[in-house]
Amino acid sequence: MYDVIVVGARPAGAATAMLLARHGLRVLVVDRARFPSDTLSTHQIQPAGVDRLRRWGLLERLIAAGTPVTGQVRFDIGGTVLEGRFPAGGLLCSPRRTVLDKLLVDAAREAGAEVVEGFHVAGLLKDGDRVHGIRGRDGTEHRAPVVVGADGKHSLVAKEVAAPVLREVAPRTVASYSYWEGVDMPVGELYHRPGRAVAAFPTNDGLTMVYAAAPVEEFGTWRTDVEGHLLDTVDRCGDLGKRVRDGRRVERLRTTVDLPNVVRRAHGPGWFLVGDAGLVMDPVTAQGIGNALADAELLASAIAGAGTGYQRERDDARLPMFDLTTGIAELRPAKGFNARFLRAVARRQASTEQFLGVFAGTVPVRALRRPGNVARILVQRARG
Ligand SMILES: Cc1cc2nc3c(=O)[nH]c(=O)nc-3n(C[C@H](O)[C@H](O)[C@H](O)COP(=O)(O)OP(=O)(O)OC[C@H]3O[C@@H](n4cnc5c(N)ncnc54)[C@H](O)[C@@H]3O)c2cc1C
Repeated sequence: MYDVIVVGARPAGAATAMLLARHGLRVLVVDRARFPSDTLSTHQIQPAGVDRLRRWGLLERLIAAGTPVTGQVRFDIGGTVLEGRFPAGGLLCSPRRTVLDKLLVDAAREAGAEVVEGFHVAGLLKDGDRVHGIRGRDGTEHRAPVVVGADGKHSLVAKEVAAPVLREVAPRTVASYSYWEGVDMPVGELYHRPGRAVAAFPTNDGLTMVYAAAPVEEFGTWRTDVEGHLLDTVDRCGDLGKRVRDGRRVERLRTTVDLPNVVRRAHGPGWFLVGDAGLVMDPVTAQGIGNALADAELLASAIAGAGTGYQRERDDARLPMFDLTTGIAELRPAKGFNARFLRAVARRQASTEQFLGVFAGTVPVRALRRPGNVARILVQRARG
């Protein structure tokens, strides 16, 4: 008998299991995958997530595994360039998922959680509405008073408990990415162009990850020549196209339109959802891994008795960014007031850092949008 069973052992599940085990709980965490294991995802971890890894004693291990870390980013939105350091010494890194997820699984095991890899959950054990365990495909059963679904955007746990959907926006983008060697890429670069978003980040083994997104309606044409469309997109981003073309692609291209935007209720009798299982959004703002780590911390302190309402805290922290992200995923150019506001932000370092802090997860979206803050930024620009 365990105190908690966690289904899924990537960022949300392994971190939840690790933290609960550190609180002294008996934890079982299972995953159908065996680690190290890659998954369909790029991997920028925003500064709030990196700070969590540092506090948990894991950042040094990521760096020791050869993961580049930077305090700087360059964000080019339709020609307006926001460039600077993240507020409060924030750091960003982009570890391969084979590196990050394995490191988290190892940390959960070290903390005392029982980790079972290659375990495919086929269903939940229930007494009426109350969940009290899991059943594997091989018929093995495990019991606990709490089952945590950390099983990703197509969560079986969420399906089995019929977790209500609180907010949903249809998928908006098609995304493609791969890895290049020999690209001059000291810090991360982000670009928004009409109908396109691009991210390029240095990652492990001296490689550069290059990602491009287009409206999902273009998938039919995009898929006929993914590399051609991806390179055509980076060609619209200053000299990035040349730098990428000067390098050499060393892995296959990955493409997906499986990019839902869904917020689910996060708890019920005997169950909780963390990470993508509870709230998933388009990767265009690269929030998912950081959100998964934040959920793990919120839920672990709620279960261990130190936290308040998990659902309320999750929603307060996440819903404004969910709305911002689904808006950005429309890939429309900034026009009118928004374009003027961005130019004003770019004029002052303090405003640039505040803006970058929103995506870093260190400045609340509503702090940037507060009418007094917006007015201050515009007035400062008008004064030159
Ligand atoms: C193209 C793309 C690019 C992205 N880029 C970024 C980025 O740059 N930065 C960022 O922060 N986020 C990014 N994301 C989002 C990020 O991948 C997710 O938010 C993150 O992986 C969520 O972690 P998780 O632990 O909740 O779920 P997952 O990583 O999906 O892990 C779920 C785990 O549950 C296991 N599982 C599922 N069902 C079962 C079952 N029945 N039995 C046993 N195990 C099961 C799976 O095997 C899996 O290991 C991207 C996503 C995509 C698709």
